Amino acid sequence: MSPAPLNLYDLTREQLRVQLVRWGLNPFHCARLWNYLYIELADSFAAMPELPAKVRAQLKAHARLGILATAQETDSSDGFTRKYLLSLDDAAAIETVLMRYTGRVTACISSQVGCAMGCVFCATGQMGYTRHLAAGEIVAQAVHVARALRVAREPRRLRNVVLMGMGEPLHNYESVMHAVDILRDDAGLALGAERITLSTVGVVPGILRLAREKRPVHLAVSLHAATQAERAALVPAARKWPLDELMAACRTYSETTRRRIFYEWTLIEGRNDSAGHARAVGELLRGLPAQVNLIPLNPTAGYAGAPTRSEAARNFQQILAVEFGVRSTVRQRRGIDIAAGCGQLAVAAG
Ligand code: SAH
Ligand code: SF4
Repeated sequence: MSPAPLNLYDLTREQLRVQLVRWGLNPFHCARLWNYLYIELADSFAAMPELPAKVRAQLKAHARLGILATAQETDSSDGFTRKYLLSLDDAAAIETVLMRYTGRVTACISSQVGCAMGCVFCATGQMGYTRHLAAGEIVAQAVHVARALRVAREPRRLRNVVLMGMGEPLHNYESVMHAVDILRDDAGLALGAERITLSTVGVVPGILRLAREKRPVHLAVSLHAATQAERAALVPAARKWPLDELMAACRTYSETTRRRIFYEWTLIEGRNDSAGHARAVGELLRGLPAQVNLIPLNPTAGYAGAPTRSEAARNFQQILAVEFGVRSTVRQRRGIDIAAGCGQLAVAAG
């Protein structure tokens, strides 16, 4: 049996060069091929006319372009958000979101089909875990968004990627980091150091490994509560990685990388949005290089809580700023009408 065709989106530029040699081809073609993949965003081998016929024939025989088919595409009435339901080869599906918020185009991409972490208020958590995504499936989502912009003749290019879609990226560390290496390549999508943000539920070994390996990503940590008991009730993963261990890992991360961490706090009315809660998180983050992202709860089928009112959110921000010198922003509620907001991504089982 011949081996399954290689997904070209699974390879770094160096790996592609090595692979060309294995196929008996001149590695000289690597630069041109890479350009077709990530600058011209070619959608077939036929759309690579400058490669010699022999090279294209070899590619056709041994490789594939792991393009993700659009099963559905939905635009939010806010005019800024578009959600793609993308099919994978095994009939599973994922969601990817294109956001045009601060004048820049950002892709919110998924790292797993479903999620094993079970946060009570998250639609992805509510659907459970199916599988990890391969690096090529993560890369293909960014390519999908970049190509959609090109096809629509939009003047803007894809500038940022946030790993905040479906799944827990640090639960799928190897594939996610391999994808980051491909996404950041200067000769390709060039989503380098300041352009990729990874959000984690708080996988302590993953945070320490990120620090050790000095990976070129911004880190966001989902906190949501400032005591172990309150956090464990919202985020079951906190039982495995308790709050004190998480904060120690965050401290190590910031000391090693000299980077600030974004701390996410989903604001749920009457649950974690009082002045007392604001002071507790202020105490927890005092002296740390931190910025807090406050996310008013988005509705999901499996959780009955309500989002904090804007006045309470402002008060929370005020306390953090004035009493603790901690900066925060309140996430605008966008894409909610098409369930493309934080924590709303979910797909029916394939
Ligand atoms: N698994 C990662 C990244 C994906 S979720 C993580 O948990 O960090 C991105 C952010 O959305 C997280 O901070 C998550 O806690 C938050 N979130 C999940 N469900 C939400 C909801 N219903 N409303 C608002 N934010 C939510
Ligand atoms: Fe998974 Fe993140 Fe959702 Fe928690 S919030 S269930 S970690 S995707």
